[in-house]
Amino acid sequence: MLLTDATHDPALKSWVESANAPGCDFPIQNLPYARLRGAGSDEPWRIGVAIGEQVLDLSMASRQCPWGEAVAPLLQPLAEGDLAAFAAQGPTAWRLVREGLSLALEAGSDQAPFLELCLREPGELEYSLPFVVRNYTDFYAGIHHARAVGALFRPDNPLLPNYTWVPIGYHGRASSVVAEGGTVRRPMGQTKAADAAEPVFGPCRRLDYELELGLWMGAANDLGMPVDMAAAESRLFGITLLNDWSARDMQAWEYQPLGPFLAKSFATSVSPWVVTFDALAPLRRPFQRPAGEPQPLPYLDSARNRDSGALELTVEAWLHTERMKKHGQPAVRLSRANVLQAAYWTPAQLVTHHTSNGCNLQIGDLLGTGTLSGPGDGESGSLLELSRGGKAPIELPGGERRTFLEDGDTLTLKAYGEVPGGVRIGLGSVAGTVLPAD
Ligand code: CA
Repeated sequence: MLLTDATHDPALKSWVESANAPGCDFPIQNLPYARLRGAGSDEPWRIGVAIGEQVLDLSMASRQCPWGEAVAPLLQPLAEGDLAAFAAQGPTAWRLVREGLSLALEAGSDQAPFLELCLREPGELEYSLPFVVRNYTDFYAGIHHARAVGALFRPDNPLLPNYTWVPIGYHGRASSVVAEGGTVRRPMGQTKAADAAEPVFGPCRRLDYELELGLWMGAANDLGMPVDMAAAESRLFGITLLNDWSARDMQAWEYQPLGPFLAKSFATSVSPWVVTFDALAPLRRPFQRPAGEPQPLPYLDSARNRDSGALELTVEAWLHTERMKKHGQPAVRLSRANVLQAAYWTPAQLVTHHTSNGCNLQIGDLLGTGTLSGPGDGESGSLLELSRGGKAPIELPGGERRTFLEDGDTLTLKAYGEVPGGVRIGLGSVAGTVLPAD
């Protein structure tokens, strides 16, 4: 099956000039969706499409521009700000609308005079979550992260024996998933120092981030009806950046025997833009297990997954401390990793495994990949790893040091995919600034 089509042609240019700039996150080949409205307004929410440095308002565009008769009715849920209703129309509709938007935004399009009036400036908009998140699951698919964190707790047995066979995950808290970081308040919680007789209650002292990708489900399966590998990909609507804010000191005390709880549920930030799986087609790569690793069990295997189940994406974390902001210094990059190297399982495998017991996924469910760390220095997607459990502070430009996040720190995640001869497909960014506990 051909994954790419005319909408992915690297030679395509848009009449929106900023979309043609090299290195732009949102060229005409991307076309991501976000749910938005005028900042501070009481406008109804609508879906917008990022194009270069501007946003096409699909509420205005559906009313003020002529569309082909196949595309016009499919745009309606987008005009009404209902990405779940749009997703429910199915993958054929997703591709028809992508094709319609691509033709409309292409240089020379006769729809340009209408759509020029429907472009908005990102800075004048506010964003909500793209979907109502009913369920949020966080996986642990970053093997270098699992190994590094395991080594901190179990030096002689870093990777538990189930890891290479079963995609590990837990059910997270959906209500505290937020669009954009904005601010995150340092949580209060129970912690216990190793040499203390009793725990104390107070502000978290080891506040961390986790650099992850999030997968947005675009289709539901009924309870008791697993989704096999052949069907899994058609259920995935899009991808987002995800910061799984983590209170390491609370986590260490509370996690046994049932896993993460309040150390994770105070905030999970996702980026506002949903980059569709259709847009990621040029970034698909073969799924391969390193030599000596077990092959996936048959229910997690398919020819298509082996052929093109993995994604060529780069993920980055950036830190901007209060001091850097005060002195006009730029943010510093803490890490950069390649998702192909970092992720042990593909998106399709996460969906199939999640439903393999009959669990029903719903449209708008969010699946986190787990922290995406590479094997090398400067490739770790959390401060827990970068500071080796808080024992090795990171030296920052300007003489500052960090083991964990301090009040006033702004942490930003970014991701993008670039292949030779192709255009950059970016996910934008998600930033969050740490507020004091009180
Ligand atoms: Ca996580």
